[in-house]
Amino acid sequence: MFIATLKLYPLALGLLLLGGYLLGAFSDQSNPLLAKDTFYTILTITSVIVPLGAMLAFFLIGRASDREYLKNTKNQENFTFEDPFALPDEQMHGYKLARIVGREPTFMGLTGDLYLADASAHCGLDADHVPPVKGCQCGFHAFKDLGEAVFERSINRSAFLFDVDLYGLGFIYQRGYRAETQVINHMIAPKRCMLCKILPVKRFVAKYEFSSLGPDMWQWQLRCSVCSSVTKPENRLSIDHMAAKLKIKII
Ligand SMILES: [Zn+2]
Ligand SMILES: [Zn+2]
Repeated sequence: MFIATLKLYPLALGLLLLGGYLLGAFSDQSNPLLAKDTFYTILTITSVIVPLGAMLAFFLIGRASDREYLKNTKNQENFTFEDPFALPDEQMHGYKLARIVGREPTFMGLTGDLYLADASAHCGLDADHVPPVKGCQCGFHAFKDLGEAVFERSINRSAFLFDVDLYGLGFIYQRGYRAETQVINHMIAPKRCMLCKILPVKRFVAKYEFSSLGPDMWQWQLRCSVCSSVTKPENRLSIDHMAAKLKIKII
């Protein structure tokens, strides 16, 4: 809205000049409708002071949102530092994102760790850790709220959404849990093809991905019958076969 108004600003300035001209501010009449001095004052305000004010406003708004961003990221770091013993008997049911990778399909967390449907966490940073450890990121993470996990998936299009239960020692924080062991119950499969995003899903296909971030690997996607037809049969898996290989349900 503010930006849209700004776009009209040169037009408004032009109209002002035209108005000034019509009212005689540019003429040498002794008694024009609009005095030259008054017109120049208005012109100075509109062409110099207002734009400067707008620039200052942009600067201040930008600084304020930067500060807000820093505050938010700081809060997020604090999430995992809560008391692990504050969770004696709450059932840690949640939702999480993971990719399916490997020629023999397995789960890969967004941080790159590989695991099976029923697994205990390992710490990749410190061999002495039995996850979860306070002050470390180790352990299985899950969102408490399905809506948050769905949102995360909308910005991680190569990941799948899973319904999980966490067990053992756990940390609770605003967005969910971090715990020792994890059982994946089922995949909440996307309804549309992950390539064309139009047709309904039909089967999984594996693609060899070259990654700039980690090792190159086979990555699995759910595709429609059209988008999976070009993939070699040995790189395809039916939804039922994938469910059996991963030892989960796919719904
Ligand atoms: Zn750790
Ligand atoms: Zn498709």
